[in-house]
Amino acid sequence: MKQQIVYDMIVIGGGPGGYTAALYAARAGLNVLVVERLSAGGQMALTHQIDNYPGFVGGIDGYDLADRMQRQAHRFGALTEYAQVLEVRLREEPKAVVTENGTLLAKTVVFATGAGPKELGLDREKELTGRGVAYCAACDGMFYRGKEVVVIGGGNSAAADAILLSRVAKKVTIIHRRDTLRATRIYHTPLMKAPNVNFLWNSAAVELLGEEKVSGLRVRNLLTGEEQIISCDGVFISVGRKPASQLAEGQLTLDEKGYILADESTQTDIPGVFVIGDVRSKVLRQVVTAVSDGAMAVHYAEEYLARLEQ
Ligand code: NAP
Repeated sequence: MKQQIVYDMIVIGGGPGGYTAALYAARAGLNVLVVERLSAGGQMALTHQIDNYPGFVGGIDGYDLADRMQRQAHRFGALTEYAQVLEVRLREEPKAVVTENGTLLAKTVVFATGAGPKELGLDREKELTGRGVAYCAACDGMFYRGKEVVVIGGGNSAAADAILLSRVAKKVTIIHRRDTLRATRIYHTPLMKAPNVNFLWNSAAVELLGEEKVSGLRVRNLLTGEEQIISCDGVFISVGRKPASQLAEGQLTLDEKGYILADESTQTDIPGVFVIGDVRSKVLRQVVTAVSDGAMAVHYAEEYLARLEQ
């Protein structure tokens, strides 16, 4: 009978953190497999322009950067399997990663599953998703060429989405629950200057309007309680992320928001299991912090593997 491969490391998720871990592991001589559901890059691949990843003077498209990171890791022998992970058994030795294609085994497992958009919780939000409700301007913005759209949120994602949309849509209205953006300063000036972007401060969306597709939004001023209807073709919801940590539930400790708990060492409470990138409990979720986590995880994984062999 053919013996099943036991990888030194399986990385779940092929975003920037995941492929950095794969690169470092492969260069350290470990046999490493990245299991990725769709294509390399995770959330980064949906970002049109990345200007804060060092080394790219004119910025770089996230999809392009993801492709480069994957090819670089593959160059040193890392492998990728495209499959959905259904279950993990982290306390077994070797650890088991169950995918739709079968069960994979590894001495160490790195969680690099990232985060996804948080829903706002409006009535009919799910029903109208894809019919006017959207969560990603880079993915769906082109459907709103010459149309009127609303962006809900005031963080970096909302600001980046609003800038992207201002280049295609006729009008962009940013609705934010406070009177100032949380987004980094660099976004403020272009948004304030764009002639087709306007703001509704201290305001919250209360009802999606439209039968088959979105035709407007009822908005409440949180200071006065007054309501108004904004007619629009699209509502981009950008109110933060939720961690993709479901696989870890019941096995690893999660923080109060559902992120997998680990400090900068990326070590979880199960030896040989690491968590990196946006799914880790941390202060700053950026491409640079994800890649830093990837390198760190391999450092501690090598220590762990050396102890296993003693
Ligand atoms: P975020 O920074 O957590 O911002 C979420 C925004 O949504 C905040 O303005 C928040 O309002 C608002 N919000 C949250 N819940 C809401 C609700 N129920 N109703 C209305 N508004 C609500 O999330 P993000 O912008 O998605 O970014 C996620 C992470 O990715 C961050 O760490 C961010 O820095 C990073 N990121 C970085 C860049 C970049 O550096 N270029 C680009 C994109 C994302 P309050 O302000 O009132 O809390």
